Amino acid sequence: MLSVRQCQHCSGSLAGKRADAKFCSAACRVNSHRQEVGRVDAISAEVVIDRQMRDALIEIGELNMQDEHDPQLVRQAFARMCQELARKYA
Ligand SMILES: [Zn+2]
Repeated sequence: MLSVRQCQHCSGSLAGKRADAKFCSAACRVNSHRQEVGRVDAISAEVVIDRQMRDALIEIGELNMQDEHDPQLVRQAFARMCQELARKYA
């Protein structure tokens, strides 16, 4: 059984917290939630590709992992992949 639990946001100790606690503090919970929401918003608002497509772009090297939150770079990577496919299978 896993005995060491860590905050999912700052990796701080969860010793003394509730058994189902995921964060060491309310601030970490809020910040973590905000990050998730921000990511989803950025992608869905600016880019019409889904998570699988983004993962695929990263996998084939068109998109850098650290750029996945940048809608413009994601879109450029997507456009490059489309051009590449068109070239290959035209
Ligand atoms: Zn924390």
